[in-house]
Parts: sequence; C-alpha cells; structure tokens
Amino acid sequence: MVSVLPTEEGNVAVVVRVRPQTQQEQEGSRHAVVQVIDDSMLVFDPEEPCLSGVFTGFRGHDAPKRKGKDLKFVFDQVFGESATQEEVFQHTTKEILDGVLNGYNCSVFAYGATGAGKTYTMLGSEKSPGIMYLTMVELYKRIEARKEEKSCEVLISYQEVYNEQIHDLLEPKGPLAIREDPEKGVVVQGLSFHQPKSAEQLLEMLASGNRNRTQHPTDANATSSRSHAVFQIYVKQQDRVVGITQDLQVAKMSLIDLAGSERASATNTKGERLREGANINRSLLALINVINALADAKSRKSHIPYRDSKLTRLLKDSLGGNCRTIMIAAISPSALAYEDTYNTLKYANRAK
Ligand code: ADP
Ligand code: MG
Repeated sequence: MVSVLPTEEGNVAVVVRVRPQTQQEQEGSRHAVVQVIDDSMLVFDPEEPCLSGVFTGFRGHDAPKRKGKDLKFVFDQVFGESATQEEVFQHTTKEILDGVLNGYNCSVFAYGATGAGKTYTMLGSEKSPGIMYLTMVELYKRIEARKEEKSCEVLISYQEVYNEQIHDLLEPKGPLAIREDPEKGVVVQGLSFHQPKSAEQLLEMLASGNRNRTQHPTDANATSSRSHAVFQIYVKQQDRVVGITQDLQVAKMSLIDLAGSERASATNTKGERLREGANINRSLLALINVINALADAKSRKSHIPYRDSKLTRLLKDSLGGNCRTIMIAAISPSALAYEDTYNTLKYANRAK
C-alpha cells in the first residue's frame, strides 16, 4: 500500500472506507453502487448490476474505464468492506503519529452520512476498537521506546460541538468558551484533561464520553447523531539532558467523529430541530469550506475561513499550515444510500 502522508504543507490526505452492507440493505436492494477496484480507486454506480465482479483480476490503474454514468474516483487510499480497524489505522493515522511526536498538530476526521461508519471507524466497538484507541496504544508504545531520551506526558480530552456549543464529554459541562492564546493556541475554557492509566481505562472513558453525546431521534433516523465528537491527545515532551533547561514541546492530535453530513432538509424537521440542523450545517459547512480552501491554497490566494463556526475555530491550530490532516470519508455501498454516498464521494474528491 502507498503512503497517505500529505506531501505538501497544509495538504489533506483523503481516504475512503466502504463499510459492509447491513442485513437490511442486503435485503432491500439488489446491488451495490460502489465497486472497489484497488487500493486507491473505486467506481460509483455500475450501471448494470449483473456486471458486478467484472473487475475481478484487474489491479492497478490499467483497469478499463467504464462507459455510461459510472464514475471513477481516485483517492490516497480506498478501504473495501473487508478492511480491518487495524488496517485502516495502519495506513492513515499511524503514519502521522511521527508528526505529533515531532511537535506538529495533526487531525483526522471521519466524514459521511449517518450510518456510513464514522463512529465505527473512529471509536469502534468493544470487540474491535477504532482509531482513537489504536492511536493511544501506538503512542504509548513509541513513548516507552524512547523514554531514555525524552520525558513525555500525554493528556486527553473529549468534547462535542453540538448546536454551535461546546460541551465536555468526560466531565459533562458546558457550554464552554473558546479563546485563542498566543502561546497555547486554541484553548477551550474549563475543559477537563485526563491521563488514562491503561488502554482499558481509555476505552471506558471513550465509551462513557460517547454516552454523554447528544442524540435526538428524528424522523429520518432514530439514532442520527447531530454532534461532532472531538477527541484530542496532547503530547508534552522535554529532552532529558542534565543541567540544561529544555524547551517544552507540545503537540496536539485531534480525532473527530463528525455529525452526519446528510442534508438537514432530508429530516423533515421543525422548530428546535430545524435550528439545530441549520447549526450543524454551519459547523460542517464551515469545515467543508476550510478544507476546500486548504485544497485550493496552492494558489496561495485563498483566505481560510476558520472563524465561521465553533468547530473550525476549535480546529484552527490543527488544520492547515504545518498540520497534517487526514479525512476519512465513510460510505455505504448500498443502492439505498445512493445519494448520500454520491455526495460524500463528490466532497471527498473536492477535498484532495
Ligand atoms: P455513523 O457513525 O457514520 O452514523 P456507524 O459507525 O454507527 O455510522 O455505523 C452504522 C452501522 O454500521 C453500525 O451498526 C456499525 O457497527 C456498522 N459498521 C460501520 N462500519 C462497519 C465496518 N467497517 N464493519 C462492520 N460494521 C460496520
Ligand atoms: Mg456515529
């Protein structure tokens, strides 16, 4: 597999993960609308369902172009239905951990419609924990390996952006205010920091934090999550050199499970929920705009609109510049999710 490391400053690496179809999807539709061709390519909407499987045997970019409506998409990495949590971690977040240990802020976010696999990828289940957990385990391993040279402290926080307000998920409180500190960067006032003693304790923290996430049943989807969950890892390091005062190096990694990207209009909501929907779009739209502006930043003209929402203000020091960013676009291959999948692929393609 190729490296997904963003090559240029401010660049965003974009990967796609296709989840397996659910029982319901398998029963409800005849064919998948996504075909994974290889490590970096997929085809959306094969016109004739009976052609599925026609690509078996083709590897690399010499696969034939399809006629008709089929759309070929190329990303830094494409993970098919059988990709494990470990594989997704290995080829995404693990590759930017060095950046964090070298003092650079990094961020990884899962984007996609409700039900597409964002939470599974970032948080995972007890049986197969996701990127948040695997990142911490790997981080502890690397710190242990060089503890002779560096003293290192790791702290975590877990917060949600919901309805343009920030709440602490580990010590439920809020709304919390954001301010920008010339030295510390973005600071969320009153946010709690924790030092999990073990990987198991971290899992418990994440699970309990997730139970504190705001979820409201809507007509469109009973478990739709309208909040953005932001897990942050702070790494503070100092060289162990006797007799010399060493600079403290602090870096932050942000792992984000975004709210569903489906359009608010699809949920047929009124009043409170409608305002909520509008606000979710605000943070998500602002993030989309920031990512697009970063993708276009090669022209060096673009203004990066961080100030447009709570989420982008929160991530201001973690996106762009020297920060490495990975976007994991989660999609369902089912014809039932056609529209959502197409929208996610279009956006992911734009973000490259
Ligand atoms: P989202 O957070 O995007 O709304 P979820 O992560 O909750 O979606 O995924 C929806 C359902 O699909 C869940 O039941 C989840 O366990 C399952 N699922 C998602 N991705 C995978 C995967 N890669 N392998 C197996 N099951 C998955
Ligand atoms: Mg979710």
